[in-house]
Formats: sequence, structure tokens, C-alpha cells
Amino acid sequence: MSETDYSDIREAVARLCKGFPESYWRELDRQREYPTGFVQALTESGYLSILIPEEYGGSGLPLAAACAVLEEIQRAGANGGACHAQMYTMGTLLRHGSAAQKDQYLPAIASGELRLQAFGVTEPGSGTDTTRIRTRAVRDGDNYVVNGSKVFISRAEHSDLMVLLVRTTPREECARRTDGMSVLLVDMRDAVGNGLTIKPIRTMMNHATTELFFDDLRVPVVGLLGEEGKGFRCIMDGMNAERILIAAECIGDARYFVDKASAYASQREVFGRLIGENQGVQFPIARAHIQTEAAAGMVCKAAALYDNDEPCGTQANMCKLLASEASWAAGDTCIQTHGGYGFAEEYDIERKFRETRLYQVAPISTNLILSHVATHALGMPKSF
Ligand SMILES: Cc1cc2nc3c(=O)[nH]c(=O)nc-3n(C[C@H](O)[C@H](O)[C@H](O)COP(=O)(O)OP(=O)(O)OC[C@H]3O[C@@H](n4cnc5c(N)ncnc54)[C@H](O)[C@@H]3O)c2cc1C
Repeated sequence: MSETDYSDIREAVARLCKGFPESYWRELDRQREYPTGFVQALTESGYLSILIPEEYGGSGLPLAAACAVLEEIQRAGANGGACHAQMYTMGTLLRHGSAAQKDQYLPAIASGELRLQAFGVTEPGSGTDTTRIRTRAVRDGDNYVVNGSKVFISRAEHSDLMVLLVRTTPREECARRTDGMSVLLVDMRDAVGNGLTIKPIRTMMNHATTELFFDDLRVPVVGLLGEEGKGFRCIMDGMNAERILIAAECIGDARYFVDKASAYASQREVFGRLIGENQGVQFPIARAHIQTEAAAGMVCKAAALYDNDEPCGTQANMCKLLASEASWAAGDTCIQTHGGYGFAEEYDIERKFRETRLYQVAPISTNLILSHVATHALGMPKSF
């Protein structure tokens, strides 16, 4: 999927995933439990710190390598959604943190001593319109005092740190709507019970997502990442990486579905012949494969731009749209190929189908990507 295929990394990740078979994920899904053992194994093997520069204890590899890790996890039937945020939230710290912040946190994140899994942006009142967030941080001496709420903040209960977007200046008082927001690095261990309350949200798949309530939470000013009021730009960098990495996960999902569908079609006999001999069964699987490979090419292109420090916002969006639609189409085809068995829990397809559906909505929905491409790439008039 990239000029360098990272086949050694792929093989090693696939081997690690064998220790966490689909029965492991199925049981966690039933109980809606967090895959602590898997995340620990991935951390200990160094794959979650693959993007952290070597000077801070990571592998210092490009985004394309991280894409290979996440793709293989998904292809193995596992769910990287449990820990993928560490890869892109770390980027905000790396690109915008001070030398002292990087020295303090990055080595501990690389070693697994600290988990940076939570990224707090979405709010109930603002939805996709991030500039309307209302969670407010007001300076009081050496602290910011934070009040407000966030919704769908994943892994908050399984993270030591959170990258949090807040308003430090009300939107009405800013020259541009993207001004006046700031990013705080919140130590969850101090915050929970001292102004931060976490409430889990049960969703259609096992995703450990939560609602957060801030009630006079005090965050030390040394936790400010980048410049006060310039937080929107800081998180945008992380968001491009997030979209590309999640697109790679969708490619892994899509390949999982295509592999499963073609294998099943090649061994299931009905009417005295293999169902895969029927072109009505073959063609949708072939189409899903084609769609997947086309999307994988776009992921590769976006990752290469990102790794070369070139503008990649449009490509990051485009590859996320293509890959999330490819994985959904491949999942749908996989269910259809399996007939009734596609719905049975023990085949794992319905679980993966639910998991991959998320990525047409999060981290950004398809409509918003179309709008970005229409206005930014094609120069059409803005609708909002
Ligand atoms: C399981 C899960 C995990 C998540 N994890 C995180 C997380 O860790 N951190 C975080 O910050 N957020 C997280 N999110 C939030 C996610 O990023 C948002 O749900 C997503 O960005 C959409 O925002 P919304 O739900 O408010 O939808 P809305 O903004 O309310 O949009 C609803 C629908 O309307 C469409 N729409 C809205 N405006 C327009 C328009 N102008 N033109 C056309 N269509 C439009 C959208 O495309 C969407 O389909 C998560 C969400 C889920 C479900």
C-alpha cells in the first residue's frame, strides 16, 4: 500500500494478532469490554509508538508504516479503534508541544508508562461545526478553569492523558471563527473526580466511547499545547493523520471481508456446485476487491504527502471517504455471500460490519468530506 510495503512490520503485527483470535474480540464485544491485553501487547511490542521520534524512545517511522500496522490489525479481525488515537494525538504534542512538554511526555508514552488515547473535540451543541464548541477555559493564575461538556470521547476511561479542545475566547469576540480555541493536555488521573466526570455511552459496537462533563476542572497552564487561541490549527494537523490512519483501518477491514467472502464462496456448495462458481456471487466480491485496491492507492498517496510535509487535507479526506465506503461495500458483500451465516455471531462478520460502519460518520462524516472537496478542491461556492 505504499512505496515501501513494510512487509516485515505487517508480518510481525499479523503474528501478534494471532495471539488475540476472533473469539477474543467476540467475547469483548458481547461484554462491551476494553481489549486491555491486546493494547498492552501492542504497546510492549512498540507498534503504538511507531511515529514517536527515536530521540524520545519511539521508532521514528513515517505515517505509511503506522498505516501498515493498523491495516494488519483490522485485517486480522481485530479492532484498532481501541488504541489508534495514540498515534495521531501524539502528533499534536510532537508538532506543537514545547521542548519541556515533549521531554516530559513523549518518552513515557513511547515506553507505555503513559497512555495518550483520548482526543476531546466533539460537543453535543456544536456537532461537526467545531468552531461552535462551548467548553470554556478561563485563566485563573497558573490554571485554566474548564467548564462544559464533550460527547463521544472514546477511550477516556483507558487513557492517562487527553488532548482537549476548548474555547479560551468566545467566538463572537474573535476576528475569525477558528480563532480563540486552545488545546490543553489534561492529566486524566488528576482530573477524574476533581471536576471531570466520565459517563460511558453504549453504542452498536464495542468502542469505549463516553460523555465528559467539566465542572470547574483546573488544568495547569503548563498543559497548554501551542499558542493560546491558535488551537484549531494544532488539532487540524492531527486530524489529517487521523483520517489517513482510519482509512488504512478501513482497507484492513475491506481486505478481511474480501478474503472471507472469496474463501467461503470457494468452499460452500449449494445446488451441487460451489456458490463461487456463480457469477452472481463472484462479481460483487471482485467489485469489492477492485474498490478496496483503488481506495488503498489513495491512502498511500495521502500518507506519502503527509510524510513529505506537503498539504494533504483534501487527499486525507478523499482517502477516508473511499476507504470507508469500500469497507462497507465489502462487508455488505461478505454478509450476502455467507447467506444466513453472515448474521451469526460466531462468524464475526456481523461484528466487523458494525465496527466498520462507524467510519462513514467518524472522525468526519461523508457529507462533510464531499463539501470539503466541492469547495476546496473544485472551488465551488461554500454552503456554510
Ligand atoms: C463511536 C464514536 C466514537 C467517536 N469518538 C470521538 C472521539 O474520540 N473524539 C471526538 O472528538 N469525537 C468522537 N466522535 C464524534 C464524531 O467525530 C462525530 O460524531 C462526527 O464528527 C459527526 O458529528 P455529529 O455526531 O455531531 O453529527 P452532526 O454534525 O450533528 O451531523 C449529523 C449528520 O448531518 C450531516 N450534516 C451536518 N451538517 C451538514 C451540512 N452542512 N451539509 C451536509 N450534511 C451535513 C452530517 O454529515 C451527519 O451525517 C465519535 C463518534 C462516535 C459515534
